[in-house]
Parts: sequence; structure tokens; C-alpha cells
Amino acid sequence: MTTVQAARGVVLSGSGGVWRVRLENGETIDASLRGRLKKSDSGKRADGSLRRDTVSSAASKLKLAVGDDVRVEPGERGSAWAIAEILPRRSKLARRAPGGGRGERLIAANVDQVVIVFAAANPEPHCRMLDRFLVIAEANDLTARIIINKVELVGEGKVRERFADYERAGYPVHLTAVKTGLGLAALREVLAGRRSVLTGPSGVGKSSLINTVFPGANLRVGEISESVNKGRHTTVGAVMLPLPDAEGGYVIDTPGLREVGLWELPVESLDRCFPEIASRRDECRFADCRHVSEPACAVREAVRTKEISAERYDSYLHLRDELESARTE
Ligand code: GDP
Ligand code: ZN
Repeated sequence: MTTVQAARGVVLSGSGGVWRVRLENGETIDASLRGRLKKSDSGKRADGSLRRDTVSSAASKLKLAVGDDVRVEPGERGSAWAIAEILPRRSKLARRAPGGGRGERLIAANVDQVVIVFAAANPEPHCRMLDRFLVIAEANDLTARIIINKVELVGEGKVRERFADYERAGYPVHLTAVKTGLGLAALREVLAGRRSVLTGPSGVGKSSLINTVFPGANLRVGEISESVNKGRHTTVGAVMLPLPDAEGGYVIDTPGLREVGLWELPVESLDRCFPEIASRRDECRFADCRHVSEPACAVREAVRTKEISAERYDSYLHLRDELESARTE
């Protein structure tokens, strides 16, 4: 029997204990988690062993995720592959486990940015929802970008104006129109060579954008995860799709990001998820200022002078309310 070399790859999806891994040579293989797995940041196990039938629960304990860089080796029977090592992560997208969760639920690893797509119209953009996506990115220390598509329906000037608050808060806002080609070259540059979580409401043009900018990507956002999940009992999290001719660029489609209500952020961390609040909160009289009704609040003062947008502040108050009442339940 010839010995097959170990190889490196990246996890594209996982279901029922089987992980789809894309090797460095471009080949895609299925692999399971090996018993004595070398890991970079997972907890200790008492005996270090792992039975075959517990692979999937062990996987969640070891927190292997889409986007993880792994080393794979030929499995014991020579045919199947086994994941032998999870390489160190540079970032992650995670949320607290639902149900009062201890610990966190890992959604994807090695994410370079969160790309949030809305339409200028049809459907109308909901800034409250945009703010939630931004908070999720900030809570995970991930760079966020905003794409406004279908700009030709409204006009560039009006769209710039409508989203000026976001640019002022420090978020790059890209205007695109699949219909006219506006902003597509710039979008390509932003996605190439990076691993991007792609999110936003349905119907805003995510699939159209990706398929136009990367012909052959064949993306149906929101449906890839469903098709992978078909006929299996395990819930599939994120799915990562290699972009053709994109210097190692991937987009990550994750249904989990859309159910933003389930994210259990500690309310104390909300301030730092709004850059324009984070930069002013030190000037509030009280160190534990909630920026709701406290006197000498620098945040409310900035809202009054319109340095902080009233809409963004309103989103902040709603999220604060939600997180505070979730905690007392
Ligand atoms: P997704 O659900 O976000 O993936 O959205 P789709 O890519 O499926 O697009 C939804 C609809 O919007 C389709 O009918 C597209 O043809 C249309 N669409 C996409 N981009 C544009 C655009 O720039 N302008 C206009 N007017 N329609 C667009
Ligand atoms: Zn304050």
C-alpha cells in the first residue's frame, strides 16, 4: 500500500460528523474528526480518547468550525480522510449558546470580514436590522462593510446621504448596482483574497452580486445551507463557498446570523459595539452610565447636537432594552 501524504485544507461545511474539506490543491474531500486530535484552543478531555460513534458531539466540544484550517491524514482504512489537527485561528464568529448558554456556539473560524448587503429600495432598507448585524460583527471584533445594492433605483446622491451616518461612524459603505455595473469592480477587490461572511435580508441581490462579480460562483445565498442539510438530521451551520479566480477568497453563508434575536450579548458590551458611542462614553459623568436618562451624559449630548444619529441611538436603546430584559428573565 502506498502511503498518502498528509495535506492541509480548509473546512467548507459539516454535517452529521462528516466535514467537507478543500485541500490546498483544490480537491474537495470528506473527512471525519480523528480520535487523538491535536488542537490549538479546545478544552482537555479526561482520557484523551474518542469513540467513533461520538465523533459529532466531540466535534462540537472541540469546536471545529467552517473556515478552520486543518491538517488531514488518510484514515485507518486507507480510503477515508481524518482531520488530525486544527491549525491556530486568527478570528472567529461565535454566539452564546441558546437557552441561557454557558459557553459559546462557534459559527465560523478565520473570518476576515462581515459583508452586510441591503438594497437602496425593493426591499426598503431597515436600518434597525443593519445595526443589529453591525453589533454582531463588532461583538466578534470583526471588520464590517456595508453594501447598498440596487442604487440605480434611488440614485447615488440620495443613497450616500441616507447612509452618511454609517460612514461617519467608520463603516465603509459601498454602493453597487448589478443592473448598471456600478461599484462591481470595487466590490470584487474587497472580496478577493478574503473570507467574508455574507449577510443581509433576502431579495437585496446577494446572489446576483456574487455571481456577476465572480462568474461561475453559482451562489444561491440562503439555499446552499438548505441543500447540504437535506435528508440529514443534523442542523448545518455555516457553509463556505470558494470564489473562482479570487486569490483564495471565500464567502460564508450562515443562516445563524439572521436570527439575531438569539444572540445573547452581555449588555455591558453593547457600548463598544457602537463605535460612535464607544468613543464618547468616557466623557459621561458616571462610569457606568447607561446613556438612557443619566445627567451629564456625553452620548445623549452628542445625539442632541446631531453628532450621533438619532436613528443609531434609537437602535442602541432598543438593543439595550432587549439585552437587559433577556438578562432578568
Ligand atoms: P438575494 O436573495 O439577496 O440573493 O437576492 P437575489 O440575487 O436573488 O436578487 C433578488 C432580485 O433582485 C432579483 O430579481 C434580481 O434580479 C434583482 N436585483 C439584483 N441586483 C439588482 C440591482 O442592482 N438592481 C435591481 N433593480 N435589481 C436587482
Ligand atoms: Zn452616558
